[in-house]
Amino acid sequence: MSSQIDHLLNETRRFAPSAAFAADAVANADLYAQAAADREAFWAEQARALHWDTPFTQTLDWSNPPFAQWFADGELNVAYNCLDRHVEAGRGDRVALLWEGEPGDSRRITYADLTEEVKRVSNVLEGLGIGRGDRVAIYMPMIPEAIAAMLAVARIGAIHSVVFGGFSADSLRARIDDAGAKLVITSDGGYRKARTSPLKPAVDQALGDRGAGPQESVEHVLVVRRTGDEISWDPDRDIWWHEAVPAASPEHVAQPFPAENPLFILYTSGTTGKPKGILHTSGGYLTQAAFTHKVAHDIHPETDVFWCTADIGWVTGHSYVVYGPLANGTTQVLYEGTPDVPHPGRWWEIVEKYGVTILYAAPTAIRSFMKIGRHVPEQFDLSSIRLLGSVGESINPEAWMWYRHVIGADSAPIIDTWWQTETGAMMVSALPGVTETKPGSAQVPLPGIGIDVVDDDGNHVGNGNGGLLVITEPWPAMLRGIWGDPDRFVETYWQKFQQQGYYFAGDGARLDEDGDVWFLGRVDDVMNVSGHRLSTTEIESALVANEAVAEAAVVGASDETTGQAVVAFVIIKQSYLDAHSPEGLAGTLRQWVSQQIGPIARPRDVFIVGELPKTRSGKIMRRLLRDVAEGREVGDTTTLADTAVMSVISAQVR
Ligand code: ATP
Ligand code: MG
Repeated sequence: MSSQIDHLLNETRRFAPSAAFAADAVANADLYAQAAADREAFWAEQARALHWDTPFTQTLDWSNPPFAQWFADGELNVAYNCLDRHVEAGRGDRVALLWEGEPGDSRRITYADLTEEVKRVSNVLEGLGIGRGDRVAIYMPMIPEAIAAMLAVARIGAIHSVVFGGFSADSLRARIDDAGAKLVITSDGGYRKARTSPLKPAVDQALGDRGAGPQESVEHVLVVRRTGDEISWDPDRDIWWHEAVPAASPEHVAQPFPAENPLFILYTSGTTGKPKGILHTSGGYLTQAAFTHKVAHDIHPETDVFWCTADIGWVTGHSYVVYGPLANGTTQVLYEGTPDVPHPGRWWEIVEKYGVTILYAAPTAIRSFMKIGRHVPEQFDLSSIRLLGSVGESINPEAWMWYRHVIGADSAPIIDTWWQTETGAMMVSALPGVTETKPGSAQVPLPGIGIDVVDDDGNHVGNGNGGLLVITEPWPAMLRGIWGDPDRFVETYWQKFQQQGYYFAGDGARLDEDGDVWFLGRVDDVMNVSGHRLSTTEIESALVANEAVAEAAVVGASDETTGQAVVAFVIIKQSYLDAHSPEGLAGTLRQWVSQQIGPIARPRDVFIVGELPKTRSGKIMRRLLRDVAEGREVGDTTTLADTAVMSVISAQVR
């Protein structure tokens, strides 16, 4: 079967939850039984944890697949659920945001403060003529106003489209045009990498003439002053936040909206190609974001200090900085800057300062800390940490072990959470306190989620085999479409397994002997070497398991004798370079892979590089490395974090 993926890596380490953690855990094994007994009733119960102005009578309408409706006749207000209801329940003094700016300034914002701010912003937006269904682009740094802006848009039933603050004027323009935004909310700039990075000038450019005339749908630009840098000003169009918001009334009654009212549009990371504008709606999305945040992150809102390090420009920032944590009344850290400013221990200093108990980060960050060395986090008191999470890519078993040992003091459970912009919330993850964890495996579908691994014909591959990951049942936070392109929605996700009605995720995965899921990388990246289908993830994990290697990316390059050959790009740890010469290391690593997981996986070439091409959300873009390995012109790099990386790598390989 062409879709089957060979399996080489054998990881046997197991970590059972401690009795103490299990005794206090929010989740318990009954959740699986409840969900299995009646999936829809299970989700209806989770939805009822929210405040509904009009209770729903129907849970799921799947009469017109793949267009689902969840809780469709119910009405709620998403922002009310994240704010007012906590204040009304007497928890207004609880801290919502422990904000830390990159230069070291900080703010503590309670639920009462944030609620009042959002009410004022809602009044400002309504005063500008923004109402239900209108699109608002948000292009901001990680400051509290960014969260207030998202919630105010949600509160009045409008639709936000958050564009990552690192994107260029052209990327911003394309997203504003695609959504037909009426308003842009931005700031003069933000702090990144010890400098101010301008945002308002990029908005001015984006709204100007980019070749096809000036932008036409945007009527106003609401601007937060963050850096104080000089910016140009259009008095007919631009409005200062610090003038308009404090002057607005702090009274604002949240109107209920139907559960299927659109909440946001968000573009995917663009790892595989042109980003897709994913549409999410209100009731189902908030239900799953809040539920998964509560059970997978084991949230005890009275005592925990949660920190999800993702930018609000990505789905992780939407679901696990804004909607999940605030719906659950969580206290959380929000950090504006990069992990290495003004020193490489900045993250760990923040953990110590605020007593962070739960940390949710990306493998790319963990591997970058591995590269620098453990002596940096070891300088800080990380003893408050009791749970660790990972998201965005597969976490290599060695990175998982490092995270557990160096950051988690060998005791904090780790959850490896698989999901996508399209799924809206976590789909596959261990439940801390319940699941015995395995380094490198995302493990089990969350309660109420249907997952399978199938071959090209949609048949279950069975335990011990690899294939294509599919979602077998509609889920509450599922995307409702691609903005303005229903055909692409059907084609991209639903056509392949139309007969079975499965959602095709585009990722390869394997079921182990226990039926646990191991992600193997994107299906498009699977290599075919002498008739064997090899996963990028397994070979990369073998390389990262070598003491010299901090990070690895492998691709298949066409080869006359084997069809494709494995070509590896590796980043070496600083500690290794301090003690050894890299001379001969490429040969050693080729041998190493062969010994670790088999001669078939031995890379034809190993290139030692200083950086790997990544999206701005930190994911490795293997398609660009494939271009280099095959000596082609490097393809579309618009979603790349640092475009210079590719020319450096190309020069090294030549
Ligand atoms: P595009 O769809 O535009 O190429 P993208 O897929 O990178 O972009 P996201 O929605 O941000 O955009 O990323 C989702 C993808 O990230 C998943 O399909 C999967 O490939 C990868 N991923 C996320 N979490 C995990 C995880 N825990 N383990 C393995 N892979 C993961
Ligand atoms: Mg994707």
